[in-house]
Amino acid sequence: ATMPPLFSAIANAGRHGVLVKSAVVMEQLGSATVVAFDKTGTLTKGAPVVVDVVVDAGWPRDRVMTLAAAAEASSEHPVGRAIVAAARSSDIPIPSATAFLAHAGLGVTATVGDHRVEVSHPRRSLPETLRHAVSDAERKGHTAVLVSIDSAPRAVVALRDEVRADAATTVSRVKKLTGNDPILLTGDNVVAARDLAAAVGIVDVRAELLPHHKVEAVADAVEAGEQVVVVGDGVNDAPALAAAHCGIAMGGSGSDLTIDTADAIVVRDDLSAVPAVIALSRKARRVVF
Ligand code: ADP
Ligand code: MG
Repeated sequence: ATMPPLFSAIANAGRHGVLVKSAVVMEQLGSATVVAFDKTGTLTKGAPVVVDVVVDAGWPRDRVMTLAAAAEASSEHPVGRAIVAAARSSDIPIPSATAFLAHAGLGVTATVGDHRVEVSHPRRSLPETLRHAVSDAERKGHTAVLVSIDSAPRAVVALRDEVRADAATTVSRVKKLTGNDPILLTGDNVVAARDLAAAVGIVDVRAELLPHHKVEAVADAVEAGEQVVVVGDGVNDAPALAAAHCGIAMGGSGSDLTIDTADAIVVRDDLSAVPAVIALSRKARRVVF
């Protein structure tokens, strides 16, 4: 027996490492006119490493890292995992934390011993040392996060993530398939976002976005009549994935919520699967219609 084209396309997508959740999704992917990519964990490997820790006077580096790593111990965000890994590799103890809360697109808060610890997107007003550390990191295209202890800013941690090897070819294939420039949506700083965008060939860069800003960006494109595909990995991307015509989750680093919300999941750590499924959908539609 021969399978209907959309079902054999789903099987084919599976061979490319993409789990497409329904025939409707398989069909819709081919009508994409705009693809929006998340940055961290989607166009980048999502395995950042800590490259610098700058402390404000008064608190020793190891003490700050102990508290930051303890606060991040339950985090599924790449930044959190990197901070924990940095502490481990320097044999810095990681005590247990209570009252852990992850704030999507912002950071984490937790109680460690007697201290309230926050690791988050750096705020604007900071002591000079830390303000310089943030601009230094951003100038290098790094991500900077702020460690606050009992509401006082104490350290800036700089992290470097690597662009995926297949990101640039993926972007150019997507451009050809849809006829439009892809969009970059990120919660990270503008400089890191532009750096990455330049490296992969994206012009339309939206940075410093909270999860609901990502949704607004998608809704704007939908209202403008575009068929929107969003590709993301984090909890912060889940609402945007839901707002798009098709949401694609990166399965490797992806959060459970994002994988549940998505219409399709890239199971292997391979971004080029995204244009591949769009092309498969096009081919199946040519057979169907
Ligand atoms: P992206 O959209 O690039 O995937 P996110 O929206 O996940 O980025 O995060 C945006 C910003 O929020 C990060 O650059 C970081 O400053 C901050 N952030 C998010 N989660 C954490 C965390 N667990 N620890 C520290 N900072 C975080
Ligand atoms: Mg992400």
